[in-house]
Amino acid sequence: MQTRMCKACKQVKPWTEFHMQEGRPKTQCKPCYNATRRETGGRESREMIPVGPFCAWIKNTMRRNGWDNSDFACMTGCNERSIYRWISGETERINIGIVDRVLVHEGSTMLIDLYPELYGCAEHNYTKVDPV
Ligand SMILES: [Zn+2]
Repeated sequence: MQTRMCKACKQVKPWTEFHMQEGRPKTQCKPCYNATRRETGGRESREMIPVGPFCAWIKNTMRRNGWDNSDFACMTGCNERSIYRWISGETERINIGIVDRVLVHEGSTMLIDLYPELYGCAEHNYTKVDPV
């Protein structure tokens, strides 16, 4: 039986305890994955967070996989133009929902890894965009 250590709870569980993505188990077991989904899903989806950590992660991910912008776009379901904007420093803040979606698509990293302060008690004063 194939097993895997869940990145979140650090327990070794059989693959059946993980959601599968393209024949591979995700990094977190189902309960942890679902818990994270709920947390982020409950957050204000218009919340804007600094693009810095996300930008560094994109560059890292591309380097690690040998991807260029278009590979990255293809693998994560976003468009090249957006990626260019994020990593060129053209934009300073990004919608938390977009970051979350890209991370889920890629599958190796969680929002909490990039933005631990979002989940801690640390004071933060991220700009909230007013509802339209
Ligand atoms: Zn787990």
